[in-house]
Amino acid sequence: MEKIYKYPEALKDFLTYVRIDTQSDETSLTSPSTKKQYDLLHLLEKQLKELGYAPEINEYGLLYCRVPGKEGLETVGLCSHVDTASELTGKNVKPRIIEDYDGGTIKLNEHYSMSPAEFPSLRNRRGQTLVVTDGNTLLGGDDKAGVAAIMGVARYYAEHKDLPHRPFSILFTVDEEIGRGADHFDAKAFGADFAYTVDGDDYHDIAYDNFNAAHVDIKIKGVTIHPGEAKGKLVNAASLASRFDTMLGYDLRPEKTEGREGFNHLVSLKATGEEASMHYIVRNHEATLLKQQLAKFEEIAEELRKEFPTAEIGLTTGIDYRNMKEKVDEDPRSVELAKKVFKELGIEAHCPPIRGGTDGANFSFKGCITPNLGTGSYNHHGRFEFLSVDEFEKIIDILVGLLKA
Ligand SMILES: [Zn+2]
Repeated sequence: MEKIYKYPEALKDFLTYVRIDTQSDETSLTSPSTKKQYDLLHLLEKQLKELGYAPEINEYGLLYCRVPGKEGLETVGLCSHVDTASELTGKNVKPRIIEDYDGGTIKLNEHYSMSPAEFPSLRNRRGQTLVVTDGNTLLGGDDKAGVAAIMGVARYYAEHKDLPHRPFSILFTVDEEIGRGADHFDAKAFGADFAYTVDGDDYHDIAYDNFNAAHVDIKIKGVTIHPGEAKGKLVNAASLASRFDTMLGYDLRPEKTEGREGFNHLVSLKATGEEASMHYIVRNHEATLLKQQLAKFEEIAEELRKEFPTAEIGLTTGIDYRNMKEKVDEDPRSVELAKKVFKELGIEAHCPPIRGGTDGANFSFKGCITPNLGTGSYNHHGRFEFLSVDEFEKIIDILVGLLKA
């Protein structure tokens, strides 16, 4: 029996988009970081024009498309990114559809299989339609599932002219995977009162409680002297660095924390007896707790300076991004609307803490509050990525509901 899809064109789009290689490149200094991201952007531009919309791609590769709607209603923004991660190749992606998944192990190729025991995201998916890779590439569901879902709702309202909708605005960004997705974001050009990134996995999620993020760089200069004559004089920079890390304690570390617990993570340590440098990332959902963690670094540095006055201990800190929950608490319209739509559709809403950041967090502090929604794609950034078409269609239902007038 032929499978009936609710949004067949959106699935077709998804299968087309994933075949277009759009990996970003962190070594590049341009925006977009790779020209090939235009291969998808230009296709999206063409498709939006065919649907009767007026998209524009700016000099940084961002595609904005504003659509007028029923007057007096807020403009809702929808955003996803066209680039894919670089952990595995995104060239020659060969998506394969598995209809009526039997719940067992999926053989991707001669070397790679995935089982529900190994990948919990495959559990409870018996009977669903999945899209998987051939085991050689990533799938790119992050975030082409988001792109295709947004195109799905754009097509839906273009084809249902009789259905009133809100004014809405679409944004396709570049270079999200290399941390530059919000660099050129312009809230004015976007023109949304609030927005949603469609860039998660589980369709139940309305995520807006992300980390506050900072980094700390420590530079230590020791005192070198012939070890045979070192008593009372030598200060070993490598030992001091190790001591610093020990003094931070063992509780606030990524491997010891979960949920809304913050951490200090030593990303790199380079050390000789003469000098040492350490790079930490510091995270907490609560801004005040993050401040306390950063203060602890200063305290330790001060303590060590007192104990080793001939050594030099320099410390610089910087804020990387902030928790958008702060903004959502001030203006909860985005989350309230999403919860209302979920309820109408009979979908239970989950608001899990995000143990990371999102482009929407940066948008929120650049003038447009932007929680994150799911896409129905899982196991991102590798060969075991897959899309649940059933969930993907639910996401489109949700987006249609968000724009409904
Ligand atoms: Zn993503």
